[in-house]
Parts: sequence; C-alpha cells; structure tokens
Amino acid sequence: ELVRVRRALLSVSDKSGLVAFAQGLAAAGVELVSTGGTRTALEAAGLKVRDVSELTAFPEIMDGRVKTLHPGVHGGLLGIRDDAEHQAAMAEHSIAEIDLAVVNLYPFEETVAKGADYATSVENIDIGGPAMIRAAAKNHAYVTVVTDPDDYDRVLEALAANDGSVPVALRRELAALAFARTAAYDAAVSGWFAGELALEAPRHRAFGGRLVEVMRYGENPHQAAAFYATGDKRPGVASAQLLQGKQLSYNNINDTDAAFELVSEFGTERAACAIIKHANPCGVAVGDSLVEAYRRALECDQTSAFGGILAFNQVLDANTAEEIVKLFTEVIIAPDASEEARQILSAKKNLRLMITGGLADPLAPGLTVRTVAGGLLVQTRDNGHVGAQDFKVVTKRAPDARELSDLAFAFRVAKHVKSNAIVYARDGATVGIGAGQMSRVDSARIAARKAEDAAQVLGLEAPLTRGSVVASDAFFPFADGLLSAIEAGATAVVQPGGSMRDQDVIDAADEAGIAMVFTGMRHFRH
Ligand code: 5GP
Repeated sequence: ELVRVRRALLSVSDKSGLVAFAQGLAAAGVELVSTGGTRTALEAAGLKVRDVSELTAFPEIMDGRVKTLHPGVHGGLLGIRDDAEHQAAMAEHSIAEIDLAVVNLYPFEETVAKGADYATSVENIDIGGPAMIRAAAKNHAYVTVVTDPDDYDRVLEALAANDGSVPVALRRELAALAFARTAAYDAAVSGWFAGELALEAPRHRAFGGRLVEVMRYGENPHQAAAFYATGDKRPGVASAQLLQGKQLSYNNINDTDAAFELVSEFGTERAACAIIKHANPCGVAVGDSLVEAYRRALECDQTSAFGGILAFNQVLDANTAEEIVKLFTEVIIAPDASEEARQILSAKKNLRLMITGGLADPLAPGLTVRTVAGGLLVQTRDNGHVGAQDFKVVTKRAPDARELSDLAFAFRVAKHVKSNAIVYARDGATVGIGAGQMSRVDSARIAARKAEDAAQVLGLEAPLTRGSVVASDAFFPFADGLLSAIEAGATAVVQPGGSMRDQDVIDAADEAGIAMVFTGMRHFRH
C-alpha cells in the first residue's frame, strides 16, 4: 500500500508555493524532473532538476505544445508497479517511474476573463497538463497527483510522517481533486466555445465551474455549501465586485441574482428598483429618479422588504442611499455607486454593496441548470421579452395608454415571480404580488390581500389594486382567478392565453367591462 516517492515530475503554470514544495521534496530525497519554465524557476532557487527531455529523449517542440506527451512520461505515470509485463515494458524502453506528478494548467479561465482574443484563448488550452494529471490520477494506486498549491503542505507532511510515502487515502483524495480540476477546466473550455460561437443548445457545453468560495453553510445551517463560477464575466452576481460588508451567504447570492436579473429587464431608460425576499420580488417600481423608484417599490410591501435585497438599474446616488439606510437591508446590487452613496452606506457595516459595471442582458442566450435526484435538468434561459407591441387585445374594450404601459411592466415583473404568479401594478409600480401558490386563484387572492395590508400601512382608504392592472405568468384555466382580480379592482389584464376555456375568461372580462390582452408567451418560474 505504501509507495516510496523517489521521482517527482513538476510542470506548473501557477508557480506559487512551488519552490518551497520542491525544496521539501528534495530534502526528502525525491529526484526532481521538470518542464522548461518550471525547471528555470527551480534552478533559480538553487535546486537540482533534470529536464523532462531526459525522460523522453525528445526535445520540447512546437512552442511547448508537445513537451510531455510521450511514452517516456506517460509510461512512467501509468505503469503498474507490481505487474511483470508493465515492468518489462518499462525496462525495455528505459522508462523511469514517476511517483509524484505536480501539475497545474495553463491559465485558460484567467486568460479568457482578461478578454483575450480567440487565438490567444485557444493557445491557452492546456493539452499535455490534463493528460499527465489524468494519467497520474488513474494510477493513484501507486502515484500521487497534486493539482492545487493548497495541497503542497499536506503532501510534505504525509511524506514526513510515512517514511517518504503518501498513504493511499490521500492519494485517492488527490486523484478525486485532480479529476474535478480537469472536468472544470474542460467545462470552462466548452463554455467559452459556446459563448464565442453563440451555441445555445445544452449539448454544446459541459457543466462545471471554478470553486470561488466555500460558504459557512447552505440554504440551512446543517447544509454545506460552496459557490462555483462558470467563467461568464458579463454583469451579474458572479462577476460583481463586493465593495463592503461580509461574504454573501448561499441565500444572499441566490436572492441577489434574482434581484439583479429582474431589475435588468427595465434597461436604463427609467430608473428602476426591485426588492427581493426569498427569490421573489416584494416590490418593483420604475420612476423619474432612483429614490422615487425605491420609495414606490417599498410601498408595495414594507413588511416583507425588511432584510431584503435591493437591485437598481442605474448608478446608486446619495439621495437613494440616504433612504436605504433608514431600513435594514442585506444586500444592494447596482451597476455602480457614487462616492457620496458609498460614503453614506459605509456607516452600515453589515450591509453588502455590490457593483456590476453594467446591467445583465435579458435577451442574452444562456443555460439554466438545476439538479434532480440523479441528474441535471438543463434548459435555455428564459430570455423571452414581451412588450406592449406584442399584445393581442381579446376583449371588447382595449387598454388605454396608461393601462398598456402598466400591463407591460406587470408582465415583465411576473416573469421573475415564482409560479403561480399574479402581479398587480399601477403607474409603474407593483401594488400586490402573489407568488408560489399551487393555484392561480390563490395567488390572485393573496396579492389582493397583501395590497389591502399595504393600504393600511400607508394609511390609504382603499387598496392600490383599485384601478390597477394585473398580470398572470400563465393562462387562467378558469374564470375564477380573473374574477378575483376584477373584485380587487383591476381594470386591465395581461396573460398568455391558450387555455381551453379562454372564451369563458374573455366573456367574464367583457361582462365586467375590463380590457384583456394575450401575450402568446408564458413565463413559468418554478
Ligand atoms: P513550464 O512553465 O514548465 O514550461 O510549463 C508548465 C505548463 O505546461 C503546465 O501548465 C503544464 O500543464 C503544461 N504542459 C506540460 N506538458 C505539456 C504538453 O506536452 N503540451 C502542452 N500544451 N502543455 C504542457
């Protein structure tokens, strides 16, 4: 079970921690073999290193494209130590056993992130490195593979504690880490290709990500959690910069994503604010200024907004920051924040401020992934974008201009509300949101009731649903949901249409004298 480490092959792009590790190996009597750049670094530190071309009897060629891809290396990594035929082959071809492979890869992800051109990105796809990592990991019964400088110390400690050997349990764990690394690396390459070539189908890319951070816990304290980035550098929660506050939790990241994707639907033409709790909006509004949008979004459901996530579509200004600090907020995400706004928010030590440098593109292609027991469900993201120009009037009365604009607003918000989604809106602000119910009529009732609660908080005589419009993320299967909305005071409705009973629903609308439009597109979000 114990294999004495006599020879190590080191070939690394990220040279952090390399010299100290190699010194430790040399002190443990391990012979060092390296590729060009790694050898130079080690020799500069005074270490004795053999060049890998001594194992291959072949020089590095083609600008390093081919340096370790040779039986002299791969035979030494893959040969089974106690197999007579393997040993005979090694002897016949003068192949030296390699007991330890220390390899990390060309920085493909970093190169792409820096905005490198196509050819440079392609040149940074490592070929020989993953081959060595996979060979060594496959042969972990005898060989130790190290792909992350964070593991150097563990290996040195193991060598010291085991008379120059690495225990099998550690070899196995390092092999698992090695395959996780090559899988993530290839997923990054495939993701880059899909992006470059605008390939949208799920089969065009593998799934993986680069471990960004391990969190204290997941959705609940007894769940472990980590955040992985797919390498997409477009404005969004993964690429955002945290200007102040502690690390975001699992739930924070999920909610901040929901908030920013929603507010990005509104472009920059008018100021917009979205307040999110548990991945659902509890208030969304547009306005002539950011502070106005914030105040109106807050009015929708002040109770729920406590401890929420705020997203803005414009540079956060001092006026808005002054308002925000009056209430407990977990996270703010915006394209940017003025110096003054940053100053004001800095008084709240626990408040996280994230800036993205721009808005997410709601029309951009992409994929969404979720896990189910034993599998991944993959789909193209919902980049459907319905506006007033897409509406088909189905009732005797057509919506007027004000209703039309509110209908477009409400339907856009409904896209970001968990199904069944019912959104009442008035003058560019949500006034009642019903989310995540098993029946549409329940969502309609809950939204109306929440509007009554809000009216009480605001000291209004009647809820703001009186004279509002209402959006439904999917068709009304029966007239009851619509009737409930009419009862709450909605004067116009937007819904996808397409139910067997559309005519019943249209008749009910006509009878009440309200206007209804169909979008032909639904926005389930489960
Ligand atoms: P060095 O800085 O030592 O010259 O090169 C180290 C890098 O080269 C490592 O990132 C390693 O993965 C990569 N590498 C090692 N062998 C090969 C090979 O045969 N072809 C390619 N393309 N990369 C290799």
